[in-house]
Amino acid sequence: MSAARKRQTIDGLLEKVALYDTAANFDMMRLAYEFAAKAHEGQVRKSGEPYIVHPLAAAHMLADMRIDPVIITATLLHDVPEDTDVTLEEVEKNFGPEIGSLVRGITKLGKLKYRGVERYIENLRKMFVAMAEDIRVMIMKFADRMHNLQTLDALPPQKAYRVALESLEIYAPIAGRLGMDEIKGELEDLSFKYVYPKEYQRIKKIRDDRIRGKEKIYQLVMSTAKEELEKAGIPIQSIQGRNKRLYSFYLKLQRKDNDVSKVYDLIAIRILVPTVADCYATLGILHKLWKPMKGRIKDYISQPKPNDYRSLHTTVFAGDGQVVEFQIRTPKMDEEAQYGIAAHWHYDEKNGKRKSKREVAWAKELAEIQKEVLTKLSDLEEIKVDFLQARIFVFTPKGDVIDLPEGATSVDFAYHIHSEIGNKCSGAIVNDKMVSLDTELKNGDVVEVLTDKNRKGPNEAWITFVKTHTAKSHIKSFQKKRKIPSWLKSVLPDK
Ligand code: MN
Repeated sequence: MSAARKRQTIDGLLEKVALYDTAANFDMMRLAYEFAAKAHEGQVRKSGEPYIVHPLAAAHMLADMRIDPVIITATLLHDVPEDTDVTLEEVEKNFGPEIGSLVRGITKLGKLKYRGVERYIENLRKMFVAMAEDIRVMIMKFADRMHNLQTLDALPPQKAYRVALESLEIYAPIAGRLGMDEIKGELEDLSFKYVYPKEYQRIKKIRDDRIRGKEKIYQLVMSTAKEELEKAGIPIQSIQGRNKRLYSFYLKLQRKDNDVSKVYDLIAIRILVPTVADCYATLGILHKLWKPMKGRIKDYISQPKPNDYRSLHTTVFAGDGQVVEFQIRTPKMDEEAQYGIAAHWHYDEKNGKRKSKREVAWAKELAEIQKEVLTKLSDLEEIKVDFLQARIFVFTPKGDVIDLPEGATSVDFAYHIHSEIGNKCSGAIVNDKMVSLDTELKNGDVVEVLTDKNRKGPNEAWITFVKTHTAKSHIKSFQKKRKIPSWLKSVLPDK
């Protein structure tokens, strides 16, 4: 965090960008900085610092993640139309339509002013729409929010709490679904301290106690691994120990009944090697060196996670029975794991393109659905389950991958495939076994839905266990249809 406190400069920013994109428009970036600095002149942050420190810090964070310079330029300008006398039109005139539209996007999202539940919901809706229109706006928003969280101490406690809670509940899960683990982790840990201050202190102490004095063991494990891999001719690009992030440790401890000894990845050793073949070779060498723990070898290269995370994981008994987790991947996988969708905006040396081709279908779906259902705060819970919660992925008998929220059942699966399959669903076979319809599905399950074509519609009791909005709304609409008795229909006027 000390780096964030150090006064950052525009020259430093340009230097950072030059490290990964020599074709960036550096003049435009400097111009954006000068334009913003002039517009914000005389304004100060709550911390007392000149206002320009904030857009500059947000831009620096994006440059650290090697984000497209166009997004960085727009980030320098992101608060100009909202907070100064300079208008959006003037920004557009000076910086062109692309940067103009990014600044417009983030300006539409508005500021962190809390004016009751209704306004809050309205702001969220705007955010979901803006996100679907251009996911780059969301990347700017994350950087904006991360810097605001870093400087939260300057705000009154109640306001700080609200900003942190929203970051934890909404922003971090969105970052997660976009595969931006680094940003997700930052948002979570920065917010954790304000949302659950006592738990934060407790968890931090547990982690620090557990890893204290282990440095030597880990150094030894790393140098042994390095030696053996070099002997085998595998060119290691980097090998590093990483502490588990606090909030994810906190959640994991809850899942493991607070038993710290069941958390194996408090420190993980990450090895980067050039190719996929090197990844598997590395895994083999580590397993020859140390005995792997049963059930802890995970191949996310051949079966990526729903957010496209790719890596090999294994936990081994190293040295004196010390349990150590290894994560093995290529630099490209590492970059994508940390920056997710943002990694796809990098300047690509090979084809000289900057645009991302990756589809974000769920963001568009979210923007559509929230129009109908997001009107009360309680609806937000439903939306969060459908779109922002942890996902599992399951397979159809043909091998197609379907991703669903955690806790989803065969009925959710059936409705996800088609509403008629849901309505006529009569049973489910999961991994070749008949199961009851309320059984929660697990990652990797193969699910086959049995249907009964004579079935009139869903069972009303299903509403008590389905998880997705899609399933709920179909079951409810069927209930409504059936609630009107036919004699009544016959006397109702036609409309
Ligand atoms: Mn801002």
